[in-house]
Amino acid sequence: MIPYGKQLISQNDIDSVVRVLQSDFLTQGPQVPLFEKIVSAYCGSKFGVAVNSATSALHIACLALGLGEGDYLWTSPNTFVASANCGLYCGAKVDFVDIDPKTYNLSTKELEKKLIQAKQDNKLPKIVIPVHFAGQSCDMVKIYSLSKEYGFKIIEDASHAIGGKYLDRPIGSCKYSDITVFSFHPVKIITTAEGGLATTNDKELLRNMQLFRSHGVTRDPKLMTKVSEGSWYYQQIDLGFNYRMIELQAALGISQMERLDEFVALRHKRQIRYDELLKGLPITLPFQDLNSYSALHLYPIQIKTNKLRSTRKEIFEALRKNNIGVSVHYIPVHTQPYYENMGFKKGDYPNAESYYESTISIPMFQGLTIKMQDEVVNVLKKVLV
Ligand SMILES: *Cc1c(COP(=O)(O)O)cnc(C)c1O
Repeated sequence: MIPYGKQLISQNDIDSVVRVLQSDFLTQGPQVPLFEKIVSAYCGSKFGVAVNSATSALHIACLALGLGEGDYLWTSPNTFVASANCGLYCGAKVDFVDIDPKTYNLSTKELEKKLIQAKQDNKLPKIVIPVHFAGQSCDMVKIYSLSKEYGFKIIEDASHAIGGKYLDRPIGSCKYSDITVFSFHPVKIITTAEGGLATTNDKELLRNMQLFRSHGVTRDPKLMTKVSEGSWYYQQIDLGFNYRMIELQAALGISQMERLDEFVALRHKRQIRYDELLKGLPITLPFQDLNSYSALHLYPIQIKTNKLRSTRKEIFEALRKNNIGVSVHYIPVHTQPYYENMGFKKGDYPNAESYYESTISIPMFQGLTIKMQDEVVNVLKKVLV
């Protein structure tokens, strides 16, 4: 099976992890802060906070921004459930903004419309989470200017987007946001097995996220509410979690970061080739924005079923039967039973829904060889009937 996404592990990655296993620290040693420094330097942000997943990063990002009961968090319905769940973890209400049918990212037109209405209803969001779908940046200039007008904070869900750029700046610079979150799950661009990281330029957000990552416990005398009782002393000043990344993960991440640019460049080579080989078929190819250098996490095609006898489902199953490990991104979050139980229903976000009905993510990863890609194209041509 040729998967839709897969990690690429080198001997250097393996050696780095083994070296940590032989060292003094398996957790809370030098690798994690080094990894944070390397990623934030790469992105051009001041700080980084590494955690055990992007889901955890989204959670502590929301907590650091003070999200709580009575607040609203908005995100795109075309995302993994974690981008919305983080709001619920904090006791906030979650709502969605429909996508732009061309970019599949959150539509800034819809966002503006919804903000005007929310202002009248006194239900403005505290946080908006744009998701850089497939690795391509949202229109951050517009979202940032709306955030100033309507007073909300921005967390970029860049789980798909490390190594990408927006207006010539690396994604994660936080030029147009408060916090950016990355995922290092093996199907993403680089991996730490499980893992995530939040970047920010704000010292207070950094401190808050560090607290929530580790039990709400601090050893910093400046943050303590009582005088220290000795050098063993620590204080719990908030309710945090154990979301820490371990040294093995960070060592793998540091080694993977060395090849990030190479990985994204390889994905671009494959994208250009797909664009060439698939043109003229009854499918819509993913739009590539010239303001953005996509990290190309995914290559989602839309099946023009009105020009075919087969349904999307039949084409999907035929691809799988021929060992092409396709996937679908995403089932709109608001149509998940858990969200339907909160009152959302099919029909609420028609663009995300109609995109979902016709999309298939075909293989796109740094280890995809020309031979594998030709196989994908040949099978696709065969099954598009
Ligand atoms: C993968 C992903 C997440 C969750 O990442 P984990 O590291 O698995 O927690 C969140 N948002 C999006 C858009 C993702 O693709």
